[in-house]
Amino acid sequence: MIRLIMPADYHLHTPLCRHATGWPVDYAQRALALGLPEIGFSDHSPMPALFDDWRMLDEELPRYFAVVDEARAVCPGLPIRLGLEVDWLEGGQSWIEALSQRAPWDYLIGSVHYLGDWNFDNPAETARFSNYGIGEAWDRYWHLFAQAARSGFFDIMAHPDLVKKFKHRPPGDLARYYEPAVQACLDAGVAIEINTAGLFKPVAEIYPAPGFLRLAAAAGIPLTINSDAHAPEEVGRAFPEALALAAGCGFTQLARFQQRYRTLVPLD
Ligand SMILES: [Zn+2]
Ligand SMILES: [Zn+2]
Repeated sequence: MIRLIMPADYHLHTPLCRHATGWPVDYAQRALALGLPEIGFSDHSPMPALFDDWRMLDEELPRYFAVVDEARAVCPGLPIRLGLEVDWLEGGQSWIEALSQRAPWDYLIGSVHYLGDWNFDNPAETARFSNYGIGEAWDRYWHLFAQAARSGFFDIMAHPDLVKKFKHRPPGDLARYYEPAVQACLDAGVAIEINTAGLFKPVAEIYPAPGFLRLAAAAGIPLTINSDAHAPEEVGRAFPEALALAAGCGFTQLARFQQRYRTLVPLD
């Protein structure tokens, strides 16, 4: 019998971001039931001023630390890491720098959800794909992704091809977008995630595409496998599929993080 070694799930949200349900203790108990070896929270980070309606406020950071600590107290056998999912915005560097000093983070996840003032992955803003043009949106997205990876602020780059969320894809071989992004991760020493949430979005595919993953594996980019859970029952969702995808694309190890220090464990 093959015993499946489950990945750590490092991309978990909390209700502080205003669009998730269940507290960290509930996510931790679900992880224990699934046999996950480790988890980490990476809720949507605060911004310096009121910015949008799907993230914690700056003054809620202490509450965030408290609810993660509460899960640690209730589930002492489960390592629970503390992270943040931080939006990459041009000109936002000094804020991210300051945020990185606010807590003993285990890791920071970098995300591109905005192209300028356009929150392109928000279902309420999809009409702007037709104004913008799909090719333009992809060009801009991957430019920002590489910029974020190279910034040096992040340990893991989130859902690498999120721009496909609503099935908008330019024609032709998409490797022209993937290659510079993988090169940026390689140059900056940044890990990526396989994010299973894409399976449950209109695109109905894991992020990123196998073409991206094969390039990343060949380049030796460190990998994590995450659910992006916004509810306790989503913890570890579709991890068997993600493990098979990772192995099939050539990955042999998974990355773990503690105090922003990375170690590797075998994927088998
Ligand atoms: Zn979210
Ligand atoms: Zn997320």
